[in-house]
Amino acid sequence: MKEQLSKIRTEALAAFSSAQTAAELDALRVQYLGKKGELTAVLKQMGRLSAEERPVMGQMANEVRTVLEQALEKTGARLEEAALEERLKAETVDVTVPGKAQKIGRKHPMYIALDEIKDIFVGMGFTVLDGPEIELATYNFDKLNAEEGHPSRDWSDTFYFDKDSRVMLRSQTSPMQVRAMETMELPIRIIAPGRVYRKDEVDATHSPMFHQVEGMVIDKGVTMADLKGTLNTVIEKLYGEGTVTRFRPHHFPFTEPSCEMDIQCHKCGGRGCPTCKGEGWIEVLGAGMIHPNVLRMSGIDPEEYSGWAFGMGLERMAMGRFKIADLRLIFENDVRFLEQF
Ligand SMILES: [Zn+2]
Repeated sequence: MKEQLSKIRTEALAAFSSAQTAAELDALRVQYLGKKGELTAVLKQMGRLSAEERPVMGQMANEVRTVLEQALEKTGARLEEAALEERLKAETVDVTVPGKAQKIGRKHPMYIALDEIKDIFVGMGFTVLDGPEIELATYNFDKLNAEEGHPSRDWSDTFYFDKDSRVMLRSQTSPMQVRAMETMELPIRIIAPGRVYRKDEVDATHSPMFHQVEGMVIDKGVTMADLKGTLNTVIEKLYGEGTVTRFRPHHFPFTEPSCEMDIQCHKCGGRGCPTCKGEGWIEVLGAGMIHPNVLRMSGIDPEEYSGWAFGMGLERMAMGRFKIADLRLIFENDVRFLEQF
Protein backbone atom coordinates (compact mmCIF):
# COMPACT_ATOMS: atom_id res chain seq x y z
CA MET A 1 0.00 0.00 0.00
CA LYS A 2 2.87 2.30 0.75
CA GLU A 3 4.28 1.59 -2.72
CA GLN A 4 0.89 2.28 -4.26
CA LEU A 5 0.70 5.71 -2.60
CA SER A 6 4.20 6.78 -3.60
CA LYS A 7 3.53 5.54 -7.16
CA ILE A 8 0.38 7.69 -7.35
CA ARG A 9 2.31 10.66 -6.01
CA THR A 10 5.15 10.34 -8.58
CA GLU A 11 2.83 9.69 -11.53
CA ALA A 12 0.37 12.45 -10.62
CA LEU A 13 3.09 15.07 -10.12
CA ALA A 14 4.62 14.18 -13.48
CA ALA A 15 1.23 14.29 -15.18
CA PHE A 16 0.33 17.65 -13.60
CA SER A 17 3.54 19.31 -14.70
CA SER A 18 3.06 18.18 -18.29
CA ALA A 19 -0.54 19.52 -18.51
CA GLN A 20 -0.87 22.17 -21.22
CA THR A 21 -4.33 23.58 -20.51
CA ALA A 22 -6.67 24.18 -17.59
CA ALA A 23 -9.05 21.55 -19.03
CA GLU A 24 -6.30 18.93 -19.17
CA LEU A 25 -5.34 19.73 -15.58
CA ASP A 26 -8.93 19.42 -14.41
CA ALA A 27 -9.21 15.98 -16.02
CA LEU A 28 -6.08 14.90 -14.13
CA ARG A 29 -7.52 16.21 -10.86
CA VAL A 30 -10.57 14.01 -11.35
CA GLN A 31 -8.38 11.03 -12.32
CA TYR A 32 -6.24 11.19 -9.16
CA LEU A 33 -8.25 13.01 -6.49
CA GLY A 34 -11.87 12.57 -7.62
CA LYS A 35 -14.49 10.41 -5.85
CA LYS A 36 -13.65 7.52 -8.17
CA GLY A 37 -10.02 8.61 -8.44
CA GLU A 38 -6.91 6.54 -7.81
CA LEU A 39 -6.15 7.95 -4.33
CA THR A 40 -9.70 7.29 -3.16
CA ALA A 41 -9.42 3.71 -4.45
CA VAL A 42 -6.36 3.16 -2.26
CA LEU A 43 -8.02 4.69 0.81
CA LYS A 44 -10.91 2.27 0.40
CA GLN A 45 -8.51 -0.57 1.13
CA MET A 46 -7.64 0.87 4.57
CA GLY A 47 -10.21 -1.40 6.21
CA ARG A 48 -8.00 -4.41 5.53
CA LEU A 49 -5.06 -2.95 7.49
CA SER A 50 -4.20 -3.76 11.09
CA ALA A 51 -5.00 -1.26 13.84
CA GLU A 52 -1.29 -0.23 14.08
CA GLU A 53 -0.82 0.21 10.36
CA ARG A 54 -4.01 2.20 9.77
CA PRO A 55 -3.00 5.62 11.28
CA VAL A 56 0.44 5.46 9.62
CA MET A 57 -1.10 4.80 6.20
CA GLY A 58 -3.82 7.35 6.83
CA GLN A 59 -1.24 10.01 7.58
CA MET A 60 0.75 9.11 4.50
CA ALA A 61 -2.36 9.21 2.31
CA ASN A 62 -3.23 12.68 3.67
CA GLU A 63 0.29 13.88 2.96
CA VAL A 64 0.03 12.66 -0.63
CA ARG A 65 -3.34 14.43 -1.02
CA THR A 66 -1.90 17.67 0.36
CA VAL A 67 1.15 17.50 -1.92
CA LEU A 68 -1.03 16.79 -4.97
CA GLU A 69 -3.49 19.56 -4.13
CA GLN A 70 -0.64 22.07 -3.75
CA ALA A 71 0.86 20.93 -7.05
CA LEU A 72 -2.56 21.30 -8.72
CA GLU A 73 -2.93 24.83 -7.45
CA LYS A 74 0.55 25.83 -8.56
CA THR A 75 0.18 24.32 -12.02
CA GLY A 76 -3.27 25.88 -12.37
CA ALA A 77 -1.88 29.33 -11.60
CA ARG A 78 0.97 28.81 -14.06
CA LEU A 79 -1.40 27.73 -16.85
CA GLU A 80 -3.66 30.70 -16.20
CA GLU A 81 -0.75 33.09 -16.40
CA ALA A 82 0.47 31.50 -19.63
CA ALA A 83 -3.02 31.76 -21.15
CA LEU A 84 -3.22 35.44 -20.22
CA GLU A 85 0.18 36.11 -21.71
CA GLU A 86 -0.86 34.33 -24.90
CA ARG A 87 -3.99 36.45 -25.15
CA LEU A 88 -2.12 39.69 -24.55
CA LYS A 89 0.32 38.77 -27.29
CA ALA A 90 -2.52 38.03 -29.71
CA GLU A 91 -4.39 41.21 -28.87
CA THR A 92 -1.49 43.59 -29.16
CA VAL A 93 -2.54 47.02 -30.43
CA ASP A 94 -0.25 48.51 -33.02
CA VAL A 95 -0.47 52.23 -32.30
CA THR A 96 1.40 53.05 -35.52
CA VAL A 97 -1.39 51.70 -37.79
CA PRO A 98 -3.31 54.63 -39.36
CA GLY A 99 -6.87 54.97 -37.94
CA LYS A 100 -10.07 54.53 -39.94
CA ALA A 101 -11.41 57.95 -40.89
CA GLN A 102 -15.10 58.46 -40.05
CA LYS A 103 -17.00 59.94 -43.00
CA ILE A 104 -19.55 62.46 -41.79
CA GLY A 105 -22.51 63.14 -44.07
CA ARG A 106 -23.82 66.56 -44.90
CA LYS A 107 -27.06 68.18 -45.95
CA HIS A 108 -28.12 67.83 -49.58
CA PRO A 109 -27.82 71.16 -51.46
CA MET A 110 -31.54 71.09 -52.29
CA TYR A 111 -32.45 70.81 -48.61
CA ILE A 112 -30.01 73.60 -47.76
CA ALA A 113 -31.92 75.77 -50.26
CA LEU A 114 -35.25 74.59 -48.78
CA ASP A 115 -34.13 75.49 -45.25
CA GLU A 116 -33.21 78.97 -46.47
CA ILE A 117 -36.57 79.35 -48.25
CA LYS A 118 -38.46 78.22 -45.13
CA ASP A 119 -36.50 80.68 -42.96
CA ILE A 120 -37.33 83.57 -45.29
CA PHE A 121 -41.07 82.78 -45.35
CA VAL A 122 -41.32 82.03 -41.64
CA GLY A 123 -39.66 85.41 -41.08
CA MET A 124 -42.54 86.96 -43.03
CA GLY A 125 -45.17 85.27 -40.86
CA PHE A 126 -45.88 82.18 -42.98
CA THR A 127 -46.66 78.71 -41.53
CA VAL A 128 -44.96 75.62 -43.05
CA LEU A 129 -47.35 72.75 -43.89
CA ASP A 130 -46.70 69.13 -44.92
CA GLY A 131 -49.17 67.18 -47.09
CA PRO A 132 -49.78 63.75 -48.68
CA GLU A 133 -47.91 62.71 -51.82
CA ILE A 134 -50.66 60.21 -52.66
CA GLU A 135 -53.57 62.51 -53.31
CA LEU A 136 -57.20 62.43 -54.39
CA ALA A 137 -57.90 63.82 -57.86
CA THR A 138 -60.57 65.95 -56.16
CA TYR A 139 -57.88 67.90 -54.36
CA ASN A 140 -55.28 67.78 -57.13
CA PHE A 141 -57.74 68.90 -59.87
CA ASP A 142 -61.48 69.38 -59.16
CA LYS A 143 -61.23 71.82 -56.29
CA LEU A 144 -58.47 73.67 -58.15
CA ASN A 145 -60.85 74.46 -60.99
CA ALA A 146 -59.49 71.76 -63.33
CA GLU A 147 -62.60 69.73 -64.06
CA GLU A 148 -62.92 66.39 -65.83
CA GLY A 149 -61.55 66.76 -69.35
CA HIS A 150 -58.95 69.38 -68.43
CA PRO A 151 -55.73 68.66 -70.38
CA SER A 152 -53.59 68.50 -67.21
CA ARG A 153 -55.62 65.44 -66.09
CA ASP A 154 -54.38 63.42 -69.06
CA TRP A 155 -53.08 59.87 -68.42
CA SER A 156 -49.90 60.74 -70.33
CA ASP A 157 -49.12 63.51 -67.80
CA THR A 158 -50.11 61.88 -64.53
CA PHE A 159 -49.42 58.77 -62.41
CA TYR A 160 -52.79 57.26 -61.38
CA PHE A 161 -53.31 54.33 -58.98
CA ASP A 162 -56.72 53.25 -60.33
CA LYS A 163 -58.44 53.10 -63.70
CA ASP A 164 -61.09 55.58 -62.60
CA SER A 165 -58.39 58.23 -62.11
CA ARG A 166 -59.45 59.02 -58.54
CA VAL A 167 -56.21 58.35 -56.64
CA MET A 168 -52.89 59.63 -57.89
CA LEU A 169 -49.37 60.77 -57.11
CA ARG A 170 -49.93 64.50 -56.76
CA SER A 171 -48.73 66.38 -59.85
CA GLN A 172 -48.33 69.62 -57.90
CA THR A 173 -48.27 70.84 -54.30
CA SER A 174 -51.36 73.00 -55.01
CA PRO A 175 -53.82 70.52 -53.37
CA MET A 176 -52.32 71.88 -50.13
CA GLN A 177 -54.01 75.21 -50.98
CA VAL A 178 -57.38 73.48 -50.77
CA ARG A 179 -56.47 71.48 -47.66
CA ALA A 180 -55.34 74.70 -45.94
CA MET A 181 -58.48 76.61 -46.97
CA GLU A 182 -60.67 73.79 -45.67
CA THR A 183 -58.98 73.50 -42.28
CA MET A 184 -57.37 76.83 -41.36
CA GLU A 185 -58.78 80.08 -40.01
CA LEU A 186 -58.57 83.18 -42.21
CA PRO A 187 -56.34 85.04 -42.88
CA ILE A 188 -54.00 82.31 -44.22
CA ARG A 189 -50.27 82.58 -44.95
CA ILE A 190 -48.70 79.20 -45.69
CA ILE A 191 -45.95 77.45 -47.62
CA ALA A 192 -46.11 73.69 -48.29
CA PRO A 193 -42.93 72.05 -49.64
CA GLY A 194 -42.85 68.45 -50.95
CA ARG A 195 -42.38 65.94 -53.77
CA VAL A 196 -44.56 65.95 -56.88
CA TYR A 197 -44.74 63.53 -59.82
CA ARG A 198 -45.25 63.93 -63.56
CA LYS A 199 -44.51 61.80 -66.59
CA ASP A 200 -41.66 64.06 -67.69
CA GLU A 201 -38.62 62.81 -69.60
CA VAL A 202 -35.32 63.33 -67.76
CA ASP A 203 -33.19 66.17 -69.17
CA ALA A 204 -31.04 69.04 -67.82
CA THR A 205 -34.08 70.76 -66.26
CA HIS A 206 -36.75 67.98 -65.98
CA SER A 207 -37.33 64.85 -63.85
CA PRO A 208 -40.46 62.65 -63.32
CA MET A 209 -40.14 63.33 -59.57
CA PHE A 210 -39.29 66.78 -58.38
CA HIS A 211 -39.98 69.14 -55.49
CA GLN A 212 -42.23 72.15 -55.26
CA VAL A 213 -42.80 74.75 -52.61
CA GLU A 214 -46.41 75.86 -52.60
CA GLY A 215 -47.23 79.25 -51.19
CA MET A 216 -50.54 80.97 -50.50
CA VAL A 217 -51.88 84.12 -48.88
CA ILE A 218 -55.59 84.84 -48.36
CA ASP A 219 -56.79 87.99 -46.66
CA LYS A 220 -58.92 91.06 -47.30
CA GLY A 221 -57.53 93.41 -49.96
CA VAL A 222 -54.66 91.16 -51.17
CA THR A 223 -53.42 92.15 -54.67
CA MET A 224 -50.99 91.09 -57.41
CA ALA A 225 -48.60 93.79 -56.12
CA ASP A 226 -48.29 91.86 -52.83
CA LEU A 227 -47.44 88.73 -54.81
CA LYS A 228 -44.70 90.45 -56.84
CA GLY A 229 -43.32 92.24 -53.81
CA THR A 230 -43.17 89.08 -51.70
CA LEU A 231 -41.58 86.91 -54.40
CA ASN A 232 -38.99 89.54 -55.36
CA THR A 233 -38.02 89.87 -51.69
CA VAL A 234 -37.63 86.10 -51.41
CA ILE A 235 -35.50 85.89 -54.57
CA GLU A 236 -33.22 88.73 -53.46
CA LYS A 237 -32.76 87.18 -50.02
CA LEU A 238 -31.96 83.82 -51.60
CA TYR A 239 -29.80 84.90 -54.56
CA GLY A 240 -28.53 88.27 -53.40
CA GLU A 241 -29.53 91.91 -53.89
CA GLY A 242 -30.20 92.99 -57.47
CA THR A 243 -31.10 89.52 -58.80
CA VAL A 244 -33.07 90.13 -62.00
CA THR A 245 -36.53 88.57 -62.27
CA ARG A 246 -39.38 88.93 -64.77
CA PHE A 247 -43.07 88.06 -64.64
CA ARG A 248 -44.72 86.70 -67.80
CA PRO A 249 -48.48 86.27 -68.30
CA HIS A 250 -49.48 82.59 -68.23
CA HIS A 251 -52.52 80.39 -67.73
CA PHE A 252 -53.34 78.12 -64.78
CA PRO A 253 -56.90 76.92 -64.14
CA PHE A 254 -56.77 77.83 -60.43
CA THR A 255 -55.44 81.40 -60.72
CA GLU A 256 -56.70 84.46 -62.61
CA PRO A 257 -54.72 86.39 -63.69
CA SER A 258 -51.76 83.95 -63.80
CA CYS A 259 -48.07 84.48 -64.38
CA GLU A 260 -44.74 82.71 -64.45
CA MET A 261 -41.67 84.15 -62.85
CA ASP A 262 -38.21 83.75 -64.42
CA ILE A 263 -34.81 84.56 -62.99
CA GLN A 264 -31.96 85.62 -65.22
CA CYS A 265 -29.78 82.56 -66.03
CA HIS A 266 -27.14 82.16 -63.31
CA LYS A 267 -24.85 80.33 -65.72
CA CYS A 268 -24.62 82.82 -68.61
CA GLY A 269 -26.03 86.00 -67.05
CA GLY A 270 -28.74 86.23 -69.72
CA ARG A 271 -26.64 85.68 -72.88
CA GLY A 272 -28.02 82.15 -73.51
CA CYS A 273 -26.44 78.75 -72.77
CA PRO A 274 -27.44 75.03 -72.59
CA THR A 275 -28.67 75.41 -68.98
CA CYS A 276 -31.29 78.02 -70.00
CA LYS A 277 -31.74 76.41 -73.45
CA GLY A 278 -30.39 79.59 -75.04
CA GLU A 279 -33.09 81.83 -73.60
CA GLY A 280 -31.10 83.66 -70.93
CA TRP A 281 -33.92 83.10 -68.40
CA ILE A 282 -34.93 80.15 -66.19
CA GLU A 283 -38.53 79.68 -65.15
CA VAL A 284 -38.67 79.09 -61.38
CA LEU A 285 -42.34 79.35 -60.47
CA GLY A 286 -45.93 79.75 -61.55
CA ALA A 287 -48.22 82.09 -59.62
CA GLY A 288 -51.34 84.23 -59.77
CA MET A 289 -54.40 85.54 -57.99
CA ILE A 290 -56.50 82.64 -56.66
CA HIS A 291 -59.48 82.06 -58.98
CA PRO A 292 -62.83 83.07 -57.36
CA ASN A 293 -64.17 79.56 -58.17
CA VAL A 294 -61.37 77.98 -56.08
CA LEU A 295 -62.13 80.23 -53.11
CA ARG A 296 -65.86 79.54 -53.46
CA MET A 297 -65.38 75.73 -53.66
CA SER A 298 -63.51 75.83 -50.32
CA GLY A 299 -66.21 77.96 -48.70
CA ILE A 300 -64.50 81.37 -48.87
CA ASP A 301 -66.44 84.38 -50.18
CA PRO A 302 -64.46 85.90 -53.11
CA GLU A 303 -66.35 89.19 -52.70
CA GLU A 304 -64.83 89.60 -49.24
CA TYR A 305 -61.47 87.83 -49.51
CA SER A 306 -58.79 87.63 -52.18
CA GLY A 307 -55.50 85.80 -52.29
CA TRP A 308 -52.48 84.78 -54.30
CA ALA A 309 -50.62 81.53 -54.65
CA PHE A 310 -47.44 80.22 -56.22
CA GLY A 311 -45.77 76.88 -56.91
CA MET A 312 -41.98 77.08 -56.91
CA GLY A 313 -39.67 74.43 -58.41
CA LEU A 314 -37.28 73.64 -55.55
CA GLU A 315 -34.62 71.96 -57.73
CA ARG A 316 -34.46 75.01 -59.97
CA MET A 317 -34.23 77.30 -56.95
CA ALA A 318 -31.32 75.20 -55.63
CA MET A 319 -29.67 75.21 -59.08
CA GLY A 320 -29.82 78.99 -59.12
CA ARG A 321 -28.73 79.28 -55.50
CA PHE A 322 -25.63 77.09 -55.94
CA LYS A 323 -24.98 77.67 -59.68
CA ILE A 324 -25.63 74.01 -60.58
CA ALA A 325 -25.74 73.51 -64.36
CA ASP A 326 -27.67 70.21 -64.61
CA LEU A 327 -30.76 69.07 -62.69
CA ARG A 328 -29.65 65.41 -62.86
CA LEU A 329 -26.70 66.14 -60.51
CA ILE A 330 -29.23 66.78 -57.74
CA PHE A 331 -30.61 63.22 -57.93
CA GLU A 332 -27.51 61.20 -58.90
CA ASN A 333 -26.06 61.36 -55.36
CA ASP A 334 -22.48 61.39 -56.58
CA VAL A 335 -20.50 62.18 -53.40
CA ARG A 336 -17.92 64.13 -55.43
CA PHE A 337 -20.74 66.52 -56.27
CA LEU A 338 -22.47 66.48 -52.86
CA GLU A 339 -19.23 67.12 -50.95
CA GLN A 340 -18.96 70.57 -52.51
CA PHE A 341 -21.77 72.05 -50.40
ZN1 LIG B 1 -27.96 80.42 -69.53
